[in-house]
Amino acid sequence: RAKAEGRNTYRLFSDDMAGETQERQKLKADLRWAIDHDELHLVYQPIMDMQTRSLSSFEALLRWTHPERGPIGPDRFIPLAEESGLIGKIGLWVLRRAARDALAWPAEIALAVNISPLQLKQPGFVLEVTRALRDSGLPPTRLVLEMTETALFDNDALTRQALTELKALGATIALDDFGTGYSSLSLIRDRRFRQLKIDKSFVDGIGSCRDSEAIVRGTINIARQMGFRIVAEGIEYASQLAWLEANGCDEAQGYLISRPMPEKDIAGFILAQTHLSTRLNAAGRT
Ligand code: C2E
Ligand code: MG
Ligand code: MG
Ligand code: MG
Repeated sequence: RAKAEGRNTYRLFSDDMAGETQERQKLKADLRWAIDHDELHLVYQPIMDMQTRSLSSFEALLRWTHPERGPIGPDRFIPLAEESGLIGKIGLWVLRRAARDALAWPAEIALAVNISPLQLKQPGFVLEVTRALRDSGLPPTRLVLEMTETALFDNDALTRQALTELKALGATIALDDFGTGYSSLSLIRDRRFRQLKIDKSFVDGIGSCRDSEAIVRGTINIARQMGFRIVAEGIEYASQLAWLEANGCDEAQGYLISRPMPEKDIAGFILAQTHLSTRLNAAGRT
């Protein structure tokens, strides 16, 4: 009896797994199609300089509109792209498109692009970045490459070499989702990284969780002494922004400032923002 039940359970379980695998396989095939058929697009989320209250950069964020399922988020499809070997092609598409878009922005505004660990390990990656920049005309000094700690965790030779070359190129390398990985403190000793993005999960606790506040304050203090620029991500409340400003954070990003926007809205946003910061600065002086 127990044996029969066990077998039964096993059968159901394996059906489920097959279902999940089929679902993922279908999505992977669809993703392959999506790249060449205009189903992917970028949105951009601004990052603000706290001191000057002006725009410092926009982060490119990838979107997929599936013809039957509608929007699918990058947290879901980037892992599929990584598993199926599509991430190189997708990542390059992102870089080229974003660099072309960014060329239309004022020269003091940088472009941040998220990079998958697998891209870093691909032998021709730095050359592809160099070419994408050259073809678009965007100077490497305007490019910020965001990578998560997990991306850098295994620290293999190809990754190390790519990081060194990207830095030599003049790009800024940022540690994304800082504090959520395994090696945060050892990573910030690495002089190739110049920017650090404090993860939203810590920002969420500002104003309600003393431990989160202690971690954020401590991170800012240490990172500052190491010469990092510190960005806080996922800011939703004015009280969080004020706290971060008071505690020495350099840059701010989050729904409070703006949600990610399509490319066509950027020129208007920049214009409105410039008027606003001019007014704020004037008000501050008088
Ligand atoms: P990330 O790089 O840490 O990006 C921040 C994520 O938080 C974005 O989600 C953004 O829309 C969201 N966010 C920003 N401010 C707020 C806020 O105030 N509240 C809330 N609730 N969320 C906020 P998104 O666009 O869904 O991207 C998720 C992740 O997918 C990104 O995390 C990044 O790791 C990855 N990703 C996105 N685009 C790309 C890409 O082109 N290439 C690669 N390799 N990864 C990408
Ligand atoms: Mg990012
Ligand atoms: Mg992040
Ligand atoms: Mg994140």
